[in-house]
Order: sequence, then C-alpha cells, then structure tokens
Amino acid sequence: MNIGFVSLGCPKNRVDTEIMMAIVKNSGYKIANSLADADAVIINTCGFINSAQEEAIDTIIETGKFKEQGKLKYLIATGCLTQRFGGQLLDELPELDGIAGIASLTRIHEIIARVEKGERVIATGPLPETFVEKGPRILSTPPGSAYLKISEGCNNRCTYCTIPSIKGNHRSRPLEELLHEAKDLAKRGIKELVLVAQDTGVYGLDLYGKSVLPVLLNDINKIEGLEWIRLMYLHPVHLDTELLDVLAGENKIVPYLDIPIQHASNKILKLMNRQHEVNYLRDLIAGLRHRIGNLVLRTTVMVGFPGEAAIDFKQLYDFIEEMEFDCLGVFTYAAEEGTPAAAMADQVNEEIKLHRLHEISTLQQKISRRKNISRLNKQAKILISSQSGRNLYIGRGYFQAPEVDGLTVVKSKSRLTKGEFYDVQLVGVRNYDMIGELADEPAE
Ligand code: SF4
Repeated sequence: MNIGFVSLGCPKNRVDTEIMMAIVKNSGYKIANSLADADAVIINTCGFINSAQEEAIDTIIETGKFKEQGKLKYLIATGCLTQRFGGQLLDELPELDGIAGIASLTRIHEIIARVEKGERVIATGPLPETFVEKGPRILSTPPGSAYLKISEGCNNRCTYCTIPSIKGNHRSRPLEELLHEAKDLAKRGIKELVLVAQDTGVYGLDLYGKSVLPVLLNDINKIEGLEWIRLMYLHPVHLDTELLDVLAGENKIVPYLDIPIQHASNKILKLMNRQHEVNYLRDLIAGLRHRIGNLVLRTTVMVGFPGEAAIDFKQLYDFIEEMEFDCLGVFTYAAEEGTPAAAMADQVNEEIKLHRLHEISTLQQKISRRKNISRLNKQAKILISSQSGRNLYIGRGYFQAPEVDGLTVVKSKSRLTKGEFYDVQLVGVRNYDMIGELADEPAE
C-alpha cells in the first residue's frame, strides 16, 4: 500500500512527519510520491492557533475528496489538532478513518493496520512525560539541511499560548541520542543542522537539572562534515552567559539567532507572562550584538493582545524601529479557547489589529530591505537547495533561516550541486530576497 504524507505547521511537526515516514517505510509500506498515488494519507496537523486549525480541517476535507472519487482508501490525522480535539474530530469529519495523538506517533504503522481491518481508530491518550518523538527519519528538507528536534513541550505559561496544553511540559532528548543522530545526519551529507524546540534555551533542564545547550552545541560543533549549526526559538529569558560564551566563540554556530520577543510594552509583556521587561530585551540585544560579530537577529511579535492601547502599540513600533531586527514575523493576537488571555478584558477589535499588523509589516519591510542592501557587493557562502531555471539556483546564506526568511537567487553558468556551499557575490535585492552571482565563475 502507498502512503502519502502532508505535514502542516512548524519544523517540529515536520520532524515528527519524517519519523512517521521512516516507520511506515520500515513496516513494508511504500511512500507515495504524490497524494494522487496514495492509497492512504496521513495528515500531520497543526492546531495551536485558529488559523492553523482551519488550514488542517480544510486539508482533511480537500484530501477526503479523493476518497469520494474512489482514489483514496484511508485518511488518518495525527499531531496537534488531534491531540487537542480527540474523538470530536472523528465525529465531525466523517472522511477520517483514524486519529493519533502526540504519544501515538511512533505507533502509526499499527494504527494504519487497524484502519485497514476496518476499525475507526482513536489513538489519543495522555501526553508523554519523556521525549518520545524519535527514531530514524526520511528527510523531507532540501538537500544539505536538516532539523534536529532537541526537546518538546514547554514549561512557560505565556497567557495566549495553547502549546503547553497540547504538547505538554518540557521534555528533552538525551544528549547522546542527539549526538548520535547529528553524526548520522552529517554522514548523510547534511551540512546545516537547525536545532528546534518550543524553548531551545532550556534544553536538558528536565534531564540534567540545568540547561546543557552549551554542552550540546560544543559537542555538535566537533562533528566532521557539519558546517552550519543554527538555533531557533530562543526565549529571551533563557539566554544566559554560558550560552552567550558558546555563541560568541569560534565555532560553526552561525551568527543568527531567532529570539521571539512578542511585545515591547511592559504592560503587555506582563499580561502575556513573558517573565521580563523591555529594558531586559534592550540590554540582551545590545550584549548579543556586542559579543557576536555580524549577528543577524530574527524575532516574532504579536499585535492586538488584550489591553494593547495605542501607547503600548507605539512602544512596540518604536522598539522595532530602534532595534532593527534583520527578520521579523508579525501576527495578530487570536483568542484561543482555554487560555487566560482569551478571558481578559479589553479585547482589541479586528480592524485595529489588522491596521497594526500592516504598520509593523511596512516598517519591517523597510528595515529588512535596508539590511539586505548593506550586504550588496560582498561575498557570501550560499547553501544551494534547488535549481529554478537554466543557470538559476536557489540557496540561503547564514543570514536566511529555512522556511521563514528570504532566499538568495544565484545566477551561475556552471552547474551547481544541491546541498553544497558556493561563494556568491551579492549583486541585488528583491523584496526579502537577495540576488547573487557565482564568484570566480570559470571563463567560457
Ligand atoms: S514560550 Fe512559546 S511555546 Fe512556551 S508558552 Fe510561551 S509562546 Fe507558548
């Protein structure tokens, strides 16, 4: 039987999908090249915000149409949405043959077998207390780059966030297992390792009594073949001196940090339960920029949180203007059922939220463009991921994280190999992307 996969949401979910793909393949099933060729489809859903839930439900309904046409036999949903809504999903979506929650991910082959026998499976149970989302993977990322999920769940309690209730408390994967996998990935030709978690900075706290992210980074740094190590999702309060020393040292960790700040008004930060004030952020960013040369900073902010008055929004706007983040994602607040923020007074109306989103987006466009222009006429090491046309390739510099930032379009008369690095002269800027030409192109 051919099994197709759809992975929605974040890179952590993508890692889970890659594990399920390997389990399914090792159990004797084939991985379908496209959904049209699949006898069964697994949709690994995201469900932590309303828009992600809508996307997941739409995808289930759309894929379900293949069943009506007789092309598809079975449809199974896994991941955050199933963990959050359980059996209710089967009641409301008749096209589904089974659902599996977070703890059942590594039993996907058993769930498929039960569905094949005609059972409508509900495999959602309590959240795991240890890190269970592990095993061999079939990589689905572009050549040369892979994610490494170092922990799951979160012990913070940001008042707008459903992740702790969906994913559970923070639980880390043991150091030796991560090193083993990182070495294996390097042997498979991976050059860039992107470390992901809900809260990367506290890696190991549950297993070792303190964060051992610096230890992990130092060990991964020694692995032959890896050239870039990238850190995503660092909560500002979990960037301590020991970690900063490692980040600032001579090693393969790229000077690129993703630090979601969410807001810059003390009132809103407190309502969000972000555990710090704005001056802490100001000092942190100044310290990082002082210690780490050519540092590229990415952040995420949220507009329209309950109680966000014009003055709070202005503080956020001014802070972004002052800090000049290289990359920034902005979202409108959405009240999520069961979160403290959903019950807060002074919910902001949608029109104001969208207006604020537009203002921040416009500001950031200018900042990102200015930052990209400052890279012009310099050389950068670019990891090539695909070819988009004759003499045209797509890649990323260290200043561009996969999936969330811009890309670098590389013109080259020579044939470039996907998954390899090339020196590229940066010659142009297009929106969030850079345009470059292969440096030292051999003469014709
Ligand atoms: S740190 Fe991130 S995942 Fe954890 S509660 Fe806050 S927003 Fe949610």
